[in-house]
Amino acid sequence: DQSLADFDPEVAEQIERELVRQQTTLEMIASENFAPTAVMQAQGSVLTNKYAEGYPGRRYYGGCENVDVIEQLAIDRIKELFGAEAANVQPHSGAQANAAAMFALINPGDTILGLDLAHGGHLTHGMKINFSGKLYNVVAYQVSPEDFRVDMAEVERLAVEHKPKLIVAGWSAYPRQLDFAEFRRIADKVGAYLMVDMAHFAGLVATGLHPSPVPYADVVTTTTHKTLGGPRGGVILSKAELAKKINSAVFPGQQGGPLEHVIAAKAVAFKMALEPAFKERQQRTLEGAQIIAGRLAQADVAEAGITVLSGGTDVHLVLVDLRNAEINGQEAEDRLHAVGITVNRNAVPFDPRPPMVSSGVRIGTPALATRGFDAEAFGEVADVIAETLAGSGEAGQLQKLRDRVEALAERFPLYADANLPTSI
Ligand code: PLP
Repeated sequence: DQSLADFDPEVAEQIERELVRQQTTLEMIASENFAPTAVMQAQGSVLTNKYAEGYPGRRYYGGCENVDVIEQLAIDRIKELFGAEAANVQPHSGAQANAAAMFALINPGDTILGLDLAHGGHLTHGMKINFSGKLYNVVAYQVSPEDFRVDMAEVERLAVEHKPKLIVAGWSAYPRQLDFAEFRRIADKVGAYLMVDMAHFAGLVATGLHPSPVPYADVVTTTTHKTLGGPRGGVILSKAELAKKINSAVFPGQQGGPLEHVIAAKAVAFKMALEPAFKERQQRTLEGAQIIAGRLAQADVAEAGITVLSGGTDVHLVLVDLRNAEINGQEAEDRLHAVGITVNRNAVPFDPRPPMVSSGVRIGTPALATRGFDAEAFGEVADVIAETLAGSGEAGQLQKLRDRVEALAERFPLYADANLPTSI
């Protein structure tokens, strides 16, 4: 049995290069994080070989005695983490979790009410060519043009007018907290289910640094790889009375065999999220975002026409508003990439530029917090970002900024002596 490096040097080399890229640059894509070595070891294990259609104790395959224990650990741990009545840990991704949750609760042709993609919603909340937009009749709410926050009066007005069967609360690009109690009230008023997609802020919820949607929503979906810091994957939490419907919507409704290697990695990540160090990391995540938002509000940045959307942040990300700046989202992403900081451009609400160019960048702190960044290091990153975006963009200046990024990357080593699958 040959090693990866021996059998497939082409793939091995690119994985090695990707490791170096992650180690030597600063990852600030808000939906990304660094999975701990223990998580990757579980995921890169022999569990990948096992078929286990069904659920712990009720499988359609033999030999499930070990994966049953593992999947039950994952279920028990995430229920404890979020105080949920029921959990399904099998969705292969966040999109799959949302598809299964909708499949469980509503029928094709029913109306859903979700946050507009251009205002921070996710594809699965009703985008036209996504399954959600094709299967369901979509009504979208937007943020207010005054304060860029979700306008609950508008949500209520649309809910009363369109009588959705399902209201979706949650976002991919929104720097503030949502009012889950108010969403619940509106859902009850029109007889809709409430689904909260906490994919982005689940790590903050797990540590009490963000209000929990669990007491209010019928169903809460999440990914496990963003602020939660685990393997790529999805989870559905629900009230006990919906558990059967949700389970059957995931399997056999949407998926076949569960990825037990990923479920093991989820179990490891949930154990980690229950430890005090995880809370401390989430605190630094929040603090880092606030430091960056504060720095980007200073005069040198404002003079370049650059502002922070909604004036700040309550979460792990900052949305930079470039609508009044000469630099657009594409150029900002490219310039930050040139200094070694990875972000993604993002449409801002009421964006005059086309989506491929856009007038925003989304900057997130979870991955750097995992790397150990503290307030002082986030201050230096914030300076580098401000100087990169507000600066001239000429090569000499960018090189100096790149040197500062490299110094930071060296100060906070990543996977330094990790026993990674590639190096086994
Ligand atoms: N839900 C939200 C709010 C997201 O931001 C994302 C991903 O960015 C997803 C769901 C989908 O997750 P995945 O990429 O795992 O399918």
